[in-house]
Amino acid sequence: MLKRALISTFKKDKVVGIAKSLEELGLEIISTGGTASKLIENGIKVTSVEEVTNFPEILGGRVKTLNPLIHGAILARRDNKEDMKTLESFKIEPIDLVYVNLYPFLEVTQKPEITLEEIVEYIDIGGPTMIRAAAKNYKHVFVLVDDADAEELIKKLKNQEEITLDYRLYLALKAFQLTAFYDSCICRYLEDVVPQTQDVFGKYITLPLEQLQEMRYGENPHQKASFYQDPVKKGSMTTFKQLNGKELSYNNLRDAQAAWRAVNEYEEIACCAVKHNTPCGIALGNSIVESYKKAYECDPVSIFGGIVAFNRKVDVQTANLLKEIFIEIVMAPDFDDEALKILQKKKNLRILKMITKPLDKYEYISVDGGMLVQEIDRGFINDFRVVTEAQVPEDLKEELFFAWRAVKHVKSNAIVVSKNKATTGIGAGQTNRIWAAIDALERSKGKGADVLASDAFFPFSDVVEKAAEFGIKAIIQPGGSIRDNESIEACNKYGIAMVFTDMRHFKH
Ligand code: 5GP
Repeated sequence: MLKRALISTFKKDKVVGIAKSLEELGLEIISTGGTASKLIENGIKVTSVEEVTNFPEILGGRVKTLNPLIHGAILARRDNKEDMKTLESFKIEPIDLVYVNLYPFLEVTQKPEITLEEIVEYIDIGGPTMIRAAAKNYKHVFVLVDDADAEELIKKLKNQEEITLDYRLYLALKAFQLTAFYDSCICRYLEDVVPQTQDVFGKYITLPLEQLQEMRYGENPHQKASFYQDPVKKGSMTTFKQLNGKELSYNNLRDAQAAWRAVNEYEEIACCAVKHNTPCGIALGNSIVESYKKAYECDPVSIFGGIVAFNRKVDVQTANLLKEIFIEIVMAPDFDDEALKILQKKKNLRILKMITKPLDKYEYISVDGGMLVQEIDRGFINDFRVVTEAQVPEDLKEELFFAWRAVKHVKSNAIVVSKNKATTGIGAGQTNRIWAAIDALERSKGKGADVLASDAFFPFSDVVEKAAEFGIKAIIQPGGSIRDNESIEACNKYGIAMVFTDMRHFKH
């Protein structure tokens, strides 16, 4: 038989209904200051926490329920004689149900001009303590942290349904999930505030994740999937507005992320087409439409069903070309009104207006039983070392930087060949570097190839030999192989200029 419920809620929209139902079920309601007032206003009989503890709320509400007369009442095991004797000796009546929602720490951190001092006041202490206590004593106390659960439990009680231990345990799990999430949000927030923290590379990782969207399926239709977001920092992929088209799929989100990172690699006007999480065309242009045409030309077949990203506002001319082909997503910081109208005529085309540049500092890859964390590859070079007799022709210097930035976004082993600030051939995801080179070079046929970029060093001189066949004039690669000399000699033989970056860009 349930006798007493403790109710303390910050958000009070559902509290009256729930308290009324509990009262009707014969429970005595105990409540904290603001909650008690609201319930009394609505005609519910309430015992205040102060009456129970004979102690006022102090420190401006910092201490309300933190009292043995409350926590003893929650934590006592009803089937333990000692516990029950202790309650009796202190005249403590057990509490059978706890319904709490917490100070809105997370919401407050999102306010633009709020200070650390103000935010600290939104760290709820007593609420999580009650929730954890009730969850620990789940066999005897119901803990409700979700209005939907409160409503469901009330229904069960009204219908006198049997309530299983599993159900109580489920409520306890939800309670601990909430307090763990709540504390992770605090950690995540403090990571930004504490100067020079180790950030996520400390002993523990506290990554709050909240479900944003349950997906229709994962990579394939037989895989269940869900999209979680970091609610404190909000990754770039969650700060866009979808202006058209069907719901984004799991693959869409991953591919869009790849395209958005690639296109943001450049200050210049850029376009990147992505298929299966790797670029099939990247180009710079003097106009947005030119960047698109050049990116499209790299591989006019693979772009079908792909994603096209721009780092500038999409105009009418570009929209008219985009509407001619089947693509899954077009994404850009903005769209001209007319351009948007043209694109919106394609019912299924997902149009994403990107609000932020890529923000995340870290990426997380799961491995069985754990997770790998690394900084996102924001490696950047301003210069390179020429290692060959031939120097880099003046007009190809910028081309080398362009190709180097492009190859960083291609799946390893990656080779990119380019001409006129456009990829003309991309070799991606090969287990052997020469295959990637052959792929890239063969695909550039008819489009020209001045420059070749490699994400990692050449183990042999074979890539240079192949590049020479296709008339490559300059090569950019990290260097660092024990056989670098063989590649350098081959370049010298063919009069190719080669530069080393001393930085590798594996992408697996
Ligand atoms: P009320 O509006 O009823 O005055 O306060 C409700 C809020 O206070 C709830 O969000 C609850 O989690 C929180 N709370 C309850 N007890 C304590 C306590 O002892 N200390 C702090 N800091 N918060 C508490």
